[in-house]
Amino acid sequence: MSNPPQTVTCGRRAADVFRMMLQTTAFAAARSRAHGPTAALWHAVELHRPPAEVDSACELTVCGSLARVTPEQPWPLQAPDVCPACAALAR
Ligand SMILES: [Zn+2]
Repeated sequence: MSNPPQTVTCGRRAADVFRMMLQTTAFAAARSRAHGPTAALWHAVELHRPPAEVDSACELTVCGSLARVTPEQPWPLQAPDVCPACAALAR
């Protein structure tokens, strides 16, 4: 009787996932750069960290492109140049 089996981690991880699913998703607006004929657009970025930590960071947007987060811009954004995919996916 020297080493009892350690089998407690599995249940704790499952509880953490469940708690995360109950959180409401927060979005921040992010500005992409213009690529050739594609104009710069406002995208939505899902926030998994406090807004101060993603300030000016390049993050993956909801539609799958990369854009620089602007935490002071609330999402949804009232602007004419908003990414249509992000506008449809992040409400
Ligand atoms: Zn987008």
